[in-house]
Amino acid sequence: MPVMAKGNTPKAIRGTQDIFGPDAEAFAFVAETFERVRKLYRFRRVEMPVFEKTEVFARSIGETTDIVSKEMYSFEDRGGDSLTLRPEFTAGIARAYLTNGWQQHAPLKVATHGPLFRYERPQKGRYRQFHQIDAEIIGAAEPQADVELLAMADQLLKELGIVGVTLHLNTLGDGDSREAWRAALVEYFGAVKDELSEDSQERLEKNPLRILDSKDPRDRKFVADAPKIDAFLSSDARAFFDAVTSGLDAAGVKWTRAESLVRGLDYYRHTAFEFVPDEGSAAADALGSQSTILGGGRYDGLMESLGGAPTPAVGWAAGIERLAMLVGERNDPILEAIVLLEHDDGLVAANKLLSELRAGGVVSDIVASGSTKKRYDKAVKQDPKAILRVNETGYHSISEKGQNERLTAVLKRRT
Ligand code: ATP
Ligand code: MG
Repeated sequence: MPVMAKGNTPKAIRGTQDIFGPDAEAFAFVAETFERVRKLYRFRRVEMPVFEKTEVFARSIGETTDIVSKEMYSFEDRGGDSLTLRPEFTAGIARAYLTNGWQQHAPLKVATHGPLFRYERPQKGRYRQFHQIDAEIIGAAEPQADVELLAMADQLLKELGIVGVTLHLNTLGDGDSREAWRAALVEYFGAVKDELSEDSQERLEKNPLRILDSKDPRDRKFVADAPKIDAFLSSDARAFFDAVTSGLDAAGVKWTRAESLVRGLDYYRHTAFEFVPDEGSAAADALGSQSTILGGGRYDGLMESLGGAPTPAVGWAAGIERLAMLVGERNDPILEAIVLLEHDDGLVAANKLLSELRAGGVVSDIVASGSTKKRYDKAVKQDPKAILRVNETGYHSISEKGQNERLTAVLKRRT
Protein backbone atom coordinates (compact mmCIF):
# COMPACT_ATOMS: atom_id res chain seq x y z
CA MET A 1 0.00 0.00 0.00
CA PRO A 2 1.46 3.39 -0.90
CA VAL A 3 1.63 5.78 2.00
CA MET A 4 -0.84 8.54 1.21
CA ALA A 5 -0.34 12.15 2.20
CA LYS A 6 -2.15 13.27 5.34
CA GLY A 7 -4.66 16.08 5.10
CA ASN A 8 -2.18 18.80 6.01
CA THR A 9 0.46 17.98 3.34
CA PRO A 10 0.93 20.90 0.92
CA LYS A 11 -0.28 20.28 -2.62
CA ALA A 12 1.77 20.93 -5.76
CA ILE A 13 1.15 24.27 -7.46
CA ARG A 14 -1.58 24.18 -10.12
CA GLY A 15 -0.08 23.77 -13.58
CA THR A 16 3.14 22.12 -12.35
CA GLN A 17 3.93 18.46 -12.92
CA ASP A 18 5.83 15.82 -11.00
CA ILE A 19 7.18 13.65 -13.78
CA PHE A 20 8.24 10.09 -13.00
CA GLY A 21 8.81 6.69 -14.59
CA PRO A 22 8.16 6.17 -18.33
CA ASP A 23 7.08 9.82 -18.78
CA ALA A 24 10.28 11.04 -17.18
CA GLU A 25 12.28 8.69 -19.43
CA ALA A 26 10.49 10.15 -22.48
CA PHE A 27 11.33 13.65 -21.24
CA ALA A 28 15.00 12.70 -20.79
CA PHE A 29 15.06 11.08 -24.25
CA VAL A 30 13.90 14.37 -25.81
CA ALA A 31 16.54 16.39 -23.96
CA GLU A 32 19.33 13.88 -24.70
CA THR A 33 18.44 13.66 -28.39
CA PHE A 34 18.39 17.45 -28.60
CA GLU A 35 21.85 17.60 -26.98
CA ARG A 36 23.20 15.13 -29.54
CA VAL A 37 21.65 16.83 -32.56
CA ARG A 38 22.62 20.37 -31.56
CA LYS A 39 26.26 19.23 -31.40
CA LEU A 40 25.99 17.80 -34.94
CA TYR A 41 25.01 21.28 -36.11
CA ARG A 42 27.64 22.93 -33.88
CA PHE A 43 25.28 24.87 -31.66
CA ARG A 44 27.10 25.83 -28.45
CA ARG A 45 25.43 25.22 -25.12
CA VAL A 46 24.39 28.18 -22.94
CA GLU A 47 22.98 28.15 -19.42
CA MET A 48 20.67 31.06 -18.70
CA PRO A 49 19.24 32.57 -15.51
CA VAL A 50 15.70 31.48 -14.66
CA PHE A 51 14.77 35.07 -13.83
CA GLU A 52 15.53 38.46 -15.34
CA LYS A 53 14.49 42.03 -14.79
CA THR A 54 10.88 42.34 -15.88
CA GLU A 55 11.82 44.90 -18.54
CA VAL A 56 13.92 42.31 -20.41
CA PHE A 57 10.68 40.53 -21.35
CA ALA A 58 8.39 43.55 -21.42
CA ARG A 59 10.60 45.44 -23.88
CA SER A 60 11.54 42.59 -26.17
CA ILE A 61 8.39 40.46 -26.30
CA GLY A 62 6.13 43.52 -26.34
CA GLU A 63 3.64 44.94 -23.86
CA THR A 64 0.62 43.99 -25.95
CA THR A 65 1.40 40.29 -26.25
CA ASP A 66 -0.49 37.65 -24.26
CA ILE A 67 2.74 36.67 -22.55
CA VAL A 68 3.56 40.12 -21.20
CA SER A 69 0.04 41.36 -20.61
CA LYS A 70 -1.31 38.33 -18.76
CA GLU A 71 1.02 35.35 -18.46
CA MET A 72 4.13 36.52 -16.63
CA TYR A 73 5.13 35.53 -13.11
CA SER A 74 6.45 38.89 -11.95
CA PHE A 75 7.32 39.87 -8.40
CA GLU A 76 9.22 42.44 -6.47
CA ASP A 77 12.33 41.04 -4.77
CA ARG A 78 13.56 42.11 -1.35
CA GLY A 79 15.61 44.88 -2.94
CA GLY A 80 12.53 46.35 -4.64
CA ASP A 81 13.41 45.31 -8.22
CA SER A 82 10.68 43.94 -10.46
CA LEU A 83 11.78 40.49 -11.58
CA THR A 84 10.08 37.90 -13.78
CA LEU A 85 10.44 34.13 -14.07
CA ARG A 86 11.41 33.61 -17.71
CA PRO A 87 8.39 32.89 -19.96
CA GLU A 88 10.73 32.16 -22.92
CA PHE A 89 14.46 31.88 -23.64
CA THR A 90 15.00 34.28 -26.52
CA ALA A 91 14.72 37.58 -24.62
CA GLY A 92 17.19 36.46 -21.95
CA ILE A 93 19.66 35.15 -24.53
CA ALA A 94 19.41 38.47 -26.41
CA ARG A 95 20.04 40.35 -23.15
CA ALA A 96 23.07 38.14 -22.46
CA TYR A 97 24.38 38.69 -26.00
CA LEU A 98 24.38 42.43 -25.38
CA THR A 99 25.60 42.50 -21.77
CA ASN A 100 28.44 40.00 -22.34
CA GLY A 101 29.67 41.34 -25.66
CA TRP A 102 28.95 38.03 -27.40
CA GLN A 103 29.01 40.01 -30.67
CA GLN A 104 32.64 38.90 -30.88
CA HIS A 105 31.38 35.34 -31.50
CA ALA A 106 28.88 36.30 -34.22
CA PRO A 107 27.39 34.50 -35.98
CA LEU A 108 26.66 32.78 -32.69
CA LYS A 109 24.82 29.47 -32.66
CA VAL A 110 23.53 28.61 -29.20
CA ALA A 111 21.19 26.05 -27.69
CA THR A 112 19.72 25.46 -24.26
CA HIS A 113 16.86 23.77 -22.46
CA GLY A 114 15.08 24.16 -19.15
CA PRO A 115 11.97 25.32 -17.32
CA LEU A 116 9.79 28.30 -18.27
CA PHE A 117 6.83 29.85 -16.50
CA ARG A 118 3.56 31.23 -17.83
CA TYR A 119 0.36 31.94 -15.95
CA GLU A 120 -1.99 30.08 -18.29
CA ARG A 121 -5.09 27.97 -17.86
CA PRO A 122 -3.62 24.50 -17.29
CA GLN A 123 -4.85 21.72 -19.59
CA LYS A 124 -3.42 18.81 -21.54
CA GLY A 125 -0.10 19.93 -23.04
CA ARG A 126 -0.32 23.36 -21.36
CA TYR A 127 1.25 23.99 -17.97
CA ARG A 128 2.36 26.89 -15.81
CA GLN A 129 5.82 25.46 -15.45
CA PHE A 130 6.82 23.77 -18.68
CA HIS A 131 10.10 23.08 -20.43
CA GLN A 132 11.54 24.00 -23.78
CA ILE A 133 14.47 23.14 -25.95
CA ASP A 134 15.69 26.24 -27.72
CA ALA A 135 18.10 27.07 -30.55
CA GLU A 136 19.17 30.49 -31.79
CA ILE A 137 21.54 31.87 -34.44
CA ILE A 138 22.44 35.46 -33.60
CA GLY A 139 24.24 37.90 -35.88
CA ALA A 140 23.41 36.08 -39.12
CA ALA A 141 21.41 37.96 -41.76
CA GLU A 142 21.58 35.37 -44.51
CA PRO A 143 18.79 32.90 -45.34
CA GLN A 144 21.25 30.04 -44.88
CA ALA A 145 20.89 30.56 -41.12
CA ASP A 146 17.13 29.98 -41.37
CA VAL A 147 17.74 26.85 -43.45
CA GLU A 148 20.30 25.51 -40.98
CA LEU A 149 18.03 26.08 -38.02
CA LEU A 150 15.05 24.43 -39.67
CA ALA A 151 17.13 21.49 -40.90
CA MET A 152 18.19 20.90 -37.30
CA ALA A 153 14.57 20.99 -36.08
CA ASP A 154 13.56 18.56 -38.82
CA GLN A 155 16.39 16.14 -38.03
CA LEU A 156 15.57 16.31 -34.33
CA LEU A 157 11.95 15.30 -34.93
CA LYS A 158 13.09 12.46 -37.16
CA GLU A 159 15.57 11.21 -34.57
CA LEU A 160 12.85 11.34 -31.93
CA GLY A 161 10.80 9.08 -34.23
CA ILE A 162 8.01 11.66 -34.48
CA VAL A 163 6.00 11.34 -37.69
CA GLY A 164 2.85 13.03 -38.98
CA VAL A 165 4.19 16.51 -38.26
CA THR A 166 4.75 19.16 -40.96
CA LEU A 167 6.69 22.39 -41.11
CA HIS A 168 4.27 25.29 -41.74
CA LEU A 169 6.21 28.18 -43.18
CA ASN A 170 5.48 31.84 -43.84
CA THR A 171 7.26 35.11 -44.36
CA LEU A 172 6.29 38.35 -42.65
CA GLY A 173 8.52 40.29 -45.03
CA ASP A 174 10.98 43.00 -44.06
CA GLY A 175 9.98 46.10 -42.06
CA ASP A 176 8.44 47.89 -45.07
CA SER A 177 6.53 44.86 -46.38
CA ARG A 178 5.22 44.16 -42.92
CA GLU A 179 4.08 47.78 -42.51
CA ALA A 180 2.17 47.78 -45.83
CA TRP A 181 0.56 44.43 -45.03
CA ARG A 182 -0.37 45.70 -41.59
CA ALA A 183 -2.13 48.74 -43.06
CA ALA A 184 -4.11 46.51 -45.45
CA LEU A 185 -5.14 44.24 -42.57
CA VAL A 186 -6.31 47.21 -40.53
CA GLU A 187 -8.48 48.34 -43.41
CA TYR A 188 -9.88 44.84 -44.04
CA PHE A 189 -10.63 43.92 -40.44
CA GLY A 190 -11.66 47.50 -39.62
CA ALA A 191 -14.58 47.14 -42.04
CA VAL A 192 -15.98 44.22 -39.99
CA LYS A 193 -14.78 45.40 -36.60
CA ASP A 194 -18.10 44.93 -34.80
CA GLU A 195 -18.27 41.28 -35.79
CA LEU A 196 -14.81 40.42 -34.43
CA SER A 197 -14.11 39.04 -30.95
CA GLU A 198 -13.44 41.59 -28.22
CA ASP A 199 -9.79 40.54 -28.15
CA SER A 200 -9.41 41.09 -31.87
CA GLN A 201 -11.11 44.49 -31.73
CA GLU A 202 -8.35 45.41 -29.35
CA ARG A 203 -5.69 43.73 -31.54
CA LEU A 204 -6.89 45.88 -34.43
CA GLU A 205 -5.41 48.88 -32.67
CA LYS A 206 -2.32 47.30 -31.19
CA ASN A 207 -1.21 44.48 -33.46
CA PRO A 208 -3.60 43.56 -36.26
CA LEU A 209 -1.33 40.73 -37.49
CA ARG A 210 -2.32 38.80 -34.45
CA ILE A 211 -5.95 38.61 -35.52
CA LEU A 212 -4.71 36.05 -38.07
CA ASP A 213 -3.52 33.97 -35.12
CA SER A 214 -6.87 34.08 -33.30
CA LYS A 215 -8.59 30.83 -32.41
CA ASP A 216 -11.99 32.51 -31.91
CA PRO A 217 -14.52 31.34 -34.56
CA ARG A 218 -15.86 34.91 -34.88
CA ASP A 219 -12.41 35.95 -36.18
CA ARG A 220 -11.60 32.72 -38.04
CA LYS A 221 -14.33 33.27 -40.61
CA PHE A 222 -12.72 36.51 -41.83
CA VAL A 223 -9.14 35.24 -41.75
CA ALA A 224 -9.31 33.08 -44.90
CA ASP A 225 -10.01 36.07 -47.16
CA ALA A 226 -7.75 38.56 -45.41
CA PRO A 227 -5.02 40.29 -47.47
CA LYS A 228 -1.95 38.08 -47.96
CA ILE A 229 1.63 39.14 -47.32
CA ASP A 230 2.68 38.06 -50.84
CA ALA A 231 0.97 41.10 -52.34
CA PHE A 232 3.15 43.39 -50.21
CA LEU A 233 6.55 41.70 -50.30
CA SER A 234 9.44 43.86 -51.47
CA SER A 235 11.68 42.18 -54.01
CA ASP A 236 14.37 41.74 -51.35
CA ALA A 237 11.93 40.08 -48.99
CA ARG A 238 10.67 37.85 -51.80
CA ALA A 239 14.23 36.83 -52.70
CA PHE A 240 14.97 36.07 -49.07
CA PHE A 241 11.97 33.79 -48.76
CA ASP A 242 12.80 32.04 -52.03
CA ALA A 243 16.33 31.37 -50.79
CA VAL A 244 14.94 29.85 -47.58
CA THR A 245 12.50 27.58 -49.39
CA SER A 246 15.00 26.40 -52.00
CA GLY A 247 17.51 25.72 -49.22
CA LEU A 248 14.94 23.63 -47.38
CA ASP A 249 14.16 21.69 -50.54
CA ALA A 250 17.85 20.99 -51.06
CA ALA A 251 18.20 19.86 -47.44
CA GLY A 252 15.23 17.50 -47.85
CA VAL A 253 13.06 19.33 -45.33
CA LYS A 254 9.37 19.05 -46.23
CA TRP A 255 7.36 22.22 -45.71
CA THR A 256 4.01 23.73 -46.55
CA ARG A 257 3.13 27.38 -47.06
CA ALA A 258 0.92 28.80 -44.31
CA GLU A 259 -0.12 32.27 -45.43
CA SER A 260 -1.86 33.30 -42.22
CA LEU A 261 0.83 32.00 -39.88
CA VAL A 262 2.13 34.85 -37.73
CA ARG A 263 4.01 34.42 -34.53
CA GLY A 264 2.51 35.91 -31.39
CA LEU A 265 5.49 38.10 -30.59
CA ASP A 266 6.29 41.60 -31.82
CA TYR A 267 9.87 41.08 -32.84
CA TYR A 268 9.49 38.75 -35.83
CA ARG A 269 10.55 39.61 -39.42
CA HIS A 270 10.86 37.48 -42.55
CA THR A 271 10.67 33.78 -41.76
CA ALA A 272 8.01 32.53 -39.34
CA PHE A 273 7.30 28.85 -38.83
CA GLU A 274 5.68 26.17 -36.74
CA PHE A 275 5.81 22.38 -36.77
CA VAL A 276 2.22 21.23 -36.49
CA PRO A 277 0.71 17.71 -36.40
CA ASP A 278 -1.09 16.75 -39.63
CA GLU A 279 -4.85 16.62 -39.36
CA GLY A 280 -6.07 13.13 -38.45
CA SER A 281 -2.56 11.91 -37.58
CA ALA A 282 -1.71 10.02 -34.40
CA ALA A 283 0.27 13.10 -33.37
CA ALA A 284 -2.85 15.29 -33.66
CA ASP A 285 -4.82 12.75 -31.61
CA ALA A 286 -2.17 12.72 -28.91
CA LEU A 287 -1.95 16.49 -28.56
CA GLY A 288 -5.55 17.57 -28.99
CA SER A 289 -6.01 21.27 -29.42
CA GLN A 290 -2.57 22.19 -28.01
CA SER A 291 -1.07 21.40 -31.32
CA THR A 292 2.00 23.47 -32.10
CA ILE A 293 5.06 21.58 -30.98
CA LEU A 294 7.84 23.82 -32.23
CA GLY A 295 7.74 27.43 -33.31
CA GLY A 296 10.04 30.27 -34.20
CA GLY A 297 11.30 32.65 -36.79
CA ARG A 298 13.56 35.55 -37.58
CA TYR A 299 13.64 38.33 -35.03
CA ASP A 300 15.79 41.03 -36.61
CA GLY A 301 14.12 43.77 -34.56
CA LEU A 302 14.68 42.35 -31.07
CA MET A 303 18.14 43.61 -30.13
CA GLU A 304 17.15 47.21 -30.80
CA SER A 305 14.22 46.95 -28.42
CA LEU A 306 16.79 46.07 -25.74
CA GLY A 307 18.96 49.06 -26.64
CA GLY A 308 21.47 47.13 -28.76
CA ALA A 309 22.66 47.69 -32.31
CA PRO A 310 20.52 46.20 -35.07
CA THR A 311 21.35 42.47 -35.06
CA PRO A 312 19.79 39.90 -37.36
CA ALA A 313 18.86 36.65 -35.65
CA VAL A 314 16.67 33.58 -36.02
CA GLY A 315 15.58 30.93 -33.54
CA TRP A 316 13.03 28.38 -32.41
CA ALA A 317 11.71 26.75 -29.28
CA ALA A 318 9.76 23.55 -28.70
CA GLY A 319 7.86 22.29 -25.69
CA ILE A 320 9.58 19.24 -24.20
CA GLU A 321 6.30 17.99 -22.65
CA ARG A 322 4.55 18.06 -26.03
CA LEU A 323 7.45 16.31 -27.75
CA ALA A 324 7.55 13.73 -24.95
CA MET A 325 3.84 13.04 -25.47
CA LEU A 326 4.56 12.22 -29.11
CA VAL A 327 7.56 10.08 -28.24
CA GLY A 328 5.30 8.03 -25.95
CA GLU A 329 6.29 6.22 -22.79
CA ARG A 330 9.84 4.98 -22.65
CA ASN A 331 11.12 2.28 -20.37
CA ASP A 332 13.88 2.55 -17.84
CA PRO A 333 17.24 1.37 -19.22
CA ILE A 334 17.48 -2.42 -19.45
CA LEU A 335 18.87 -3.92 -16.26
CA GLU A 336 21.88 -5.90 -17.44
CA ALA A 337 23.04 -7.42 -14.18
CA ILE A 338 21.96 -7.89 -10.60
CA VAL A 339 24.47 -8.78 -7.93
CA LEU A 340 22.63 -11.15 -5.59
CA LEU A 341 24.17 -11.11 -2.12
CA GLU A 342 23.32 -14.52 -0.70
CA HIS A 343 25.14 -14.11 2.58
CA ASP A 344 25.82 -10.83 4.37
CA ASP A 345 29.47 -11.76 4.90
CA GLY A 346 29.97 -11.33 1.17
CA LEU A 347 29.07 -7.61 1.21
CA VAL A 348 32.61 -6.37 0.56
CA ALA A 349 33.05 -8.72 -2.41
CA ALA A 350 29.60 -7.74 -3.73
CA ASN A 351 30.41 -4.03 -3.64
CA LYS A 352 33.73 -4.62 -5.36
CA LEU A 353 32.04 -6.60 -8.14
CA LEU A 354 29.33 -3.97 -8.49
CA SER A 355 31.82 -1.16 -8.90
CA GLU A 356 33.72 -3.17 -11.53
CA LEU A 357 30.50 -3.77 -13.44
CA ARG A 358 29.51 -0.12 -13.45
CA ALA A 359 33.00 1.05 -14.36
CA GLY A 360 32.78 -1.43 -17.25
CA GLY A 361 29.56 0.17 -18.50
CA VAL A 362 27.19 -2.58 -17.33
CA VAL A 363 23.80 -1.31 -16.07
CA SER A 364 23.66 -3.05 -12.70
CA ASP A 365 22.05 -3.10 -9.29
CA ILE A 366 22.26 -5.09 -6.07
CA VAL A 367 19.86 -7.06 -3.92
CA ALA A 368 21.24 -7.24 -0.40
CA SER A 369 18.33 -6.97 2.01
CA GLY A 370 15.51 -9.14 3.30
CA SER A 371 15.61 -12.85 4.11
CA THR A 372 18.03 -14.98 2.09
CA LYS A 373 15.16 -16.80 0.43
CA LYS A 374 13.33 -13.61 -0.58
CA ARG A 375 16.47 -12.05 -2.10
CA TYR A 376 16.45 -14.48 -5.01
CA ASP A 377 12.78 -13.72 -5.74
CA LYS A 378 13.48 -9.99 -5.53
CA ALA A 379 16.31 -10.29 -8.05
CA VAL A 380 14.24 -12.36 -10.51
CA LYS A 381 11.31 -9.97 -10.25
CA GLN A 382 13.39 -7.12 -11.68
CA ASP A 383 14.02 -9.25 -14.77
CA PRO A 384 17.77 -8.64 -15.15
CA LYS A 385 19.71 -10.05 -18.10
CA ALA A 386 22.10 -11.70 -15.64
CA ILE A 387 22.19 -12.63 -11.96
CA LEU A 388 25.63 -12.74 -10.34
CA ARG A 389 25.64 -14.64 -7.06
CA VAL A 390 27.92 -13.65 -4.23
CA ASN A 391 28.23 -15.47 -0.89
CA GLU A 392 30.68 -15.41 2.03
CA THR A 393 33.40 -16.82 -0.23
CA GLY A 394 32.86 -14.12 -2.88
CA TYR A 395 31.45 -14.22 -6.41
CA HIS A 396 30.77 -17.80 -7.44
CA SER A 397 28.28 -18.14 -10.30
CA ILE A 398 26.15 -16.47 -12.94
CA SER A 399 22.86 -17.16 -14.72
CA GLU A 400 22.60 -15.26 -17.99
CA LYS A 401 19.98 -14.72 -20.64
CA GLY A 402 22.30 -14.37 -23.63
CA GLN A 403 25.80 -12.95 -23.79
CA ASN A 404 26.78 -9.39 -22.95
CA GLU A 405 30.24 -8.41 -24.18
CA ARG A 406 30.81 -5.75 -21.56
CA LEU A 407 29.76 -8.07 -18.75
CA THR A 408 31.96 -10.86 -20.09
CA ALA A 409 34.91 -8.46 -20.27
CA VAL A 410 34.43 -7.37 -16.64
CA LEU A 411 34.34 -10.97 -15.42
CA LYS A 412 37.39 -11.89 -17.50
CA ARG A 413 39.41 -9.04 -16.02
CA ARG A 414 38.75 -10.46 -12.53
CA THR A 415 40.48 -13.77 -13.18
P1 ATP B 1 0.52 28.26 -28.01
O1 ATP B 1 -0.08 28.81 -29.24
O2 ATP B 1 0.36 26.76 -27.86
O3 ATP B 1 0.15 29.01 -26.76
P2 ATP B 1 2.92 29.79 -28.08
O4 ATP B 1 2.88 30.50 -29.36
O5 ATP B 1 2.57 30.49 -26.82
O6 ATP B 1 2.08 28.42 -28.18
P3 ATP B 1 5.76 29.67 -28.03
O7 ATP B 1 5.87 30.81 -27.15
O8 ATP B 1 6.13 29.81 -29.45
O9 ATP B 1 4.31 29.06 -27.93
O10 ATP B 1 6.53 28.42 -27.43
C1 ATP B 1 7.04 27.38 -28.27
C2 ATP B 1 6.54 26.03 -27.84
O11 ATP B 1 6.55 25.89 -26.42
C3 ATP B 1 5.09 25.73 -28.19
O12 ATP B 1 5.00 25.33 -29.50
C4 ATP B 1 4.77 24.62 -27.23
O13 ATP B 1 5.30 23.38 -27.67
C5 ATP B 1 5.51 25.04 -26.00
N1 ATP B 1 4.65 25.72 -25.03
C6 ATP B 1 4.28 27.03 -25.02
N2 ATP B 1 3.52 27.31 -23.95
C7 ATP B 1 3.40 26.14 -23.25
C8 ATP B 1 2.74 25.75 -22.03
N3 ATP B 1 2.07 26.62 -21.29
N4 ATP B 1 2.84 24.46 -21.62
C9 ATP B 1 3.54 23.56 -22.35
N5 ATP B 1 4.17 23.85 -23.50
C10 ATP B 1 4.11 25.12 -23.95
MG1 MG C 1 0.82 30.68 -25.67
